[in-house]
Amino acid sequence: MRVVGLHRDVLVATSRIWQTTCTIVRQGQECFVIDSPILPDELELLPAILEHSGFPFTGLLATHADWDHVLGRLAFPKAALGVGETTAARLTAAPGAVARELRAFDDEWYVERPAPLSLGQVQALPVPGHCAIGDDEIELHPADGHTADGTAFWIGWANTLVCGDYLSPVEIPWISESGSRDAYLATLRRLQPFVEQAEHVVPGHGAVLDGLRAAAILGEDLAYLEALPDAELPIARRSAAQRAIHKKNLARV
Ligand SMILES: [Zn+2]
Repeated sequence: MRVVGLHRDVLVATSRIWQTTCTIVRQGQECFVIDSPILPDELELLPAILEHSGFPFTGLLATHADWDHVLGRLAFPKAALGVGETTAARLTAAPGAVARELRAFDDEWYVERPAPLSLGQVQALPVPGHCAIGDDEIELHPADGHTADGTAFWIGWANTLVCGDYLSPVEIPWISESGSRDAYLATLRRLQPFVEQAEHVVPGHGAVLDGLRAAAILGEDLAYLEALPDAELPIARRSAAQRAIHKKNLARV
């Protein structure tokens, strides 16, 4: 797992699987962990990373309900998990889904974990809205389209956008089963003004981007989605895995 500091108050840990990102944000005596790495050793390391960096843990947040983003309780078993209303609704509607999908992944790759995942008490946060932290706040904005749920987090004092599964340098826009192209396009347009003022953009998968690079990806992703079903894949994202996602997208437009 790679850990980089973006700002005095913001660290990003990136999982060795799918480059899934986990953003650690501090303000004063509070610290939230947004999304999660995936592998057991990465999750086990997280509390020590916070402690050594002087980030006093407060709670967990997640961008959306896909299982690979909500594993934080495996690192902080007693923590509360705060999510946008749409994500809370998705978790409530299918209570066992996350644990089931995690188990399927672990079975496929022979991954052993010290304990099963329990999401505990999920707290629904109003979106748009904000989450108080120290004497400041993190802004919450709707980010659906990849899935039916989703929240982007704007950390204003660090000019950092944590957007979930959008603006990835390694993954094309993925319209999953509950997602929609129109909602995805609306989310990209909603994120645009934040991208334009961002110093850092943390996508759900892949390296942290500066504002310019994120704006370029946003342009490519708008063009890709608007051109579906006849879209060309962005030049840097044409691997077999991306073509497979593209094929699934074609079935959804
Ligand atoms: Zn994801």
